[in-house]
Amino acid sequence: MPVKNRQPEPRYIFIFVFLIIMFVLVQASQAAEKHKDEHMFLDSHLDTPLLVDFSALDITKRYSWQNDYVQVDLPRMKEGGLDGGFWVIYTPQGPLTQDGYARALKEARQRNAVIDKMVRDAPDDFALAVQGQDARAIIAQGKRVVYKSIENAYPLGEDLSLLDEFYAAGVRMVGLVHTRNNQFSDSSTDSGGQKWGGLSPLGKELIARANALGMVVDLSHAHDDALEQAMALSKTPIILSHSGASQLYTHPRNVPDRLLKQLAETGGVIQINSLSGYLRKLNVDRRRLPELIKIYSEYRAPDSANGEVGAKHIAYTAKRRALDAKYPPQYADISDVLDHFFYTLELMGPEHVGFGMDWDGGGGVANLQDVSDLPKVLAAFRNRGLSEADIAKISGENLIRLLAVAEKAARD
Ligand SMILES: [Zn+2]
Repeated sequence: MPVKNRQPEPRYIFIFVFLIIMFVLVQASQAAEKHKDEHMFLDSHLDTPLLVDFSALDITKRYSWQNDYVQVDLPRMKEGGLDGGFWVIYTPQGPLTQDGYARALKEARQRNAVIDKMVRDAPDDFALAVQGQDARAIIAQGKRVVYKSIENAYPLGEDLSLLDEFYAAGVRMVGLVHTRNNQFSDSSTDSGGQKWGGLSPLGKELIARANALGMVVDLSHAHDDALEQAMALSKTPIILSHSGASQLYTHPRNVPDRLLKQLAETGGVIQINSLSGYLRKLNVDRRRLPELIKIYSEYRAPDSANGEVGAKHIAYTAKRRALDAKYPPQYADISDVLDHFFYTLELMGPEHVGFGMDWDGGGGVANLQDVSDLPKVLAAFRNRGLSEADIAKISGENLIRLLAVAEKAARD
């Protein structure tokens, strides 16, 4: 018998190489999975309570942007790795009268009740959070984190003790103003110009009250003068819960470098938003916005014929689709959002930037249309060479730090 050739056969080499490749692929996908899970991922501006309220939206079900104009729900949060964040009690600006205040207060209380109901209806999926440390504990239980914030303090009227009521209800962040001047502050976008030269005397009292309670003070939407005064006045760092950099696009909603640097120096954070019209210049038909506002105000009008669950939302989406056909919307791109991230990261450092995409409040751009697209942003961070430690800060730790600092200052 001839001695057998001891050389391995080509097919064994092939199998061996195949196994090595499989091993490497499994390791890589486990590493990616680990990335997805190891960082706490919070967004500081989720306007979804509006939709839950008006349309009896069941947030545990899957919707889509294309069909439903909805950007946040439980299945897509899981898909995008979003652990939760601040769910917004938003009230539009109305007249500065006792009547106006009373109506707005009723609406804000209703929005707060909607957030509570959302959590109560799905106790295995959502949990209310009030302290900085709550987020990690809730995530460890496999649930989504529900902090509450106020966008536009208008419903408080001139009675600051109402801030205590909302604090007791769990609210831990208060935004002073929206698109028009109110009793607390000048807005960055009031067509009539400034009313107070920044903060009003009542606005200054509101910040002091928020500091005493341990709430984070939010100056998104406020005039630059109000932001500058708030940074000087507040005992704890200011947040811009959904804003951008005016160096990239000159718009009153964006913030100039001088103030962004000051924000970083005072320990504050800018949470980058994804509202197309704030990110860059677009050429949308001027007739679109008034019609969109009309459709939206019909949608949010407290009508009664809202019998069937979701019926109101179906009517709203039909109108919006017709409007989109008539005057097509223009969206910025994920690259514009990334530009605002990278610019502010460069200017301010990774301790002072985070996510406040304005989901279900006007945010969302091409290729970043809902929360399920968020891993694309994290992938871009990694491509850019950001460290995992820095990504962890941006995706949640900075936000939690501000909350913890506000709590501690109130305790002391
Ligand atoms: Zn806003």
